[in-house]
Amino acid sequence: MSADPITIHAIINGEKAPAEKNFPRENPAHPDEIVGYAPINTKEEAIRAIDSAFDAFKEWRRSEVDDRLRRMERAIQKIKDLTPEIAELLSREHGKALWDSEGEIAVSIMWMEYACSVLKDVISDEVKEHENGRTIITYDPVGVVSAITPWNYPISLSTIKVAPALLTGNTMVLKPSPFAPLAVSRVIEIIASEFPPGVLNLVHGEADVGVELTSNPKVAKIAFTGGTKTAKSIMKAAAETIKKMTLELGGNDAAIVLPGFDVHDPKAMRRMVISNFLTSGQICMIAKRIYVHQSIYDAFVEKYIEAANRWIKVGDPFNPEVTVGPVNNQNQVKYVKSLVDGAEGKGAKVIKLGKIMNPELMDNGYFLQPTLVLGADPHDPIVVEEQFGPTVPIIPFEDTDQVIALHNESIYGLTSSVWGDEEQAVEVARRIEAGTTMINTAAIQGLDVRFPFGGVKQSGVGREYGKEGLKSYVETHVINIPKSLDLPYIPE
Ligand code: NAD
Repeated sequence: MSADPITIHAIINGEKAPAEKNFPRENPAHPDEIVGYAPINTKEEAIRAIDSAFDAFKEWRRSEVDDRLRRMERAIQKIKDLTPEIAELLSREHGKALWDSEGEIAVSIMWMEYACSVLKDVISDEVKEHENGRTIITYDPVGVVSAITPWNYPISLSTIKVAPALLTGNTMVLKPSPFAPLAVSRVIEIIASEFPPGVLNLVHGEADVGVELTSNPKVAKIAFTGGTKTAKSIMKAAAETIKKMTLELGGNDAAIVLPGFDVHDPKAMRRMVISNFLTSGQICMIAKRIYVHQSIYDAFVEKYIEAANRWIKVGDPFNPEVTVGPVNNQNQVKYVKSLVDGAEGKGAKVIKLGKIMNPELMDNGYFLQPTLVLGADPHDPIVVEEQFGPTVPIIPFEDTDQVIALHNESIYGLTSSVWGDEEQAVEVARRIEAGTTMINTAAIQGLDVRFPFGGVKQSGVGREYGKEGLKSYVETHVINIPKSLDLPYIPE
């Protein structure tokens, strides 16, 4: 499927801002096809966008909550109506299967609707009459928010920030990743058009724009999803003006398979395979290392390969049978390949998984056939690094203490999963250092937008989703009206 390339623009103060330079975004399945062009915005354009958000905040912070809700609900309806068009664009620029793109938009809508439904609960004033007088607690917007997002789930990881920020009375400048800038820009245009000029601004570009967004004194909060290394630069850039931060970062999520796991349950095995290979493994919360109890290791590997060969169908994202598309970009292909080759070079066994549906695309497109890695050292990079691609190592373990130690020695702690008897799995989960632990499922299959999501250790700061995902865009402001104004211990 191909179409004429589109050109998208920055949005500054409610207007499309033509840029002097644009960059092309290619189709990872057919890299010769340019899907569209996005602007290379400059530092000056980033400053204009921040200024416009700063000016708009003065009015927007005082806007009626019902007005904000009406605007967001209209935007949600438009996104719903345009889902087929946006999903197609996303698959073409990103490489994920069409159903996967539709799923991403569906989750985005689910979250935006949830955020609308709990807004009043989260930000309505609390008034407390007590023995010392009266206290009013208000939840005030933070100010200008810089949102910086990655390429793997560009729409959901942007709307996860835009909806709570705008609903709670903040203004925003958003910068998507250059590796998937197009479909998310359509979504941001739709939302921005429902709000007053300057409330939601969009700029594109790389680190220089990112540095302005994270260091400019008019920015009060940073909402960032991306790599842990980038987050370290962002924290430094933001330190000078002590910005609030929500950081959703890398992970090396483990799946721990207990002896009670039924390897003969095909549904559970399918869920496991999807936990590793959905979106070609390019999800922060994908299970990136599987630890299997040694008593069931051989049977697990055998059944896993059978299940993987049934579910994994590699090819063109627009082929309706395809479940695993190309990797999003060449750097990622090289990186994942280097991890697999490195492990193989040290004696690990690499097993190719799945069926190739479009062999004609494999050489030119950014494809990597999914692999299972057996016999790697538990401290090999394929196990301890975040691969972010279609490969997964399986490691046997002897007892619970050992596997929990292996799990917790990671610098990361985003999500994790425990598979087996439910009660035993919950007991193991309680000992795991992670923001979310799922039982008998993993990755997006276990995600619920009504509950907070985020990482411990170097996987992040703060939470998105759930009521906490809205609360992180407000400052708690206490207005105290004491009955007695004289403190007994202060001398006359
Ligand atoms: P990345 O860190 O390379 O880029 C993320 C964004 O930061 C991009 O928009 C990029 O242009 C921008 N950026 C780069 N340098 C910057 C700088 N110095 N200052 C400000 N902005 C800068 O990440 P990526 O490769 O796009 O995404 C993959 C990473 O994201 C993986 O590590 C993955 O685990 C993580 N991720 C985390 C979550 C989560 O919820 N925890 C979700 C998805 C992805």
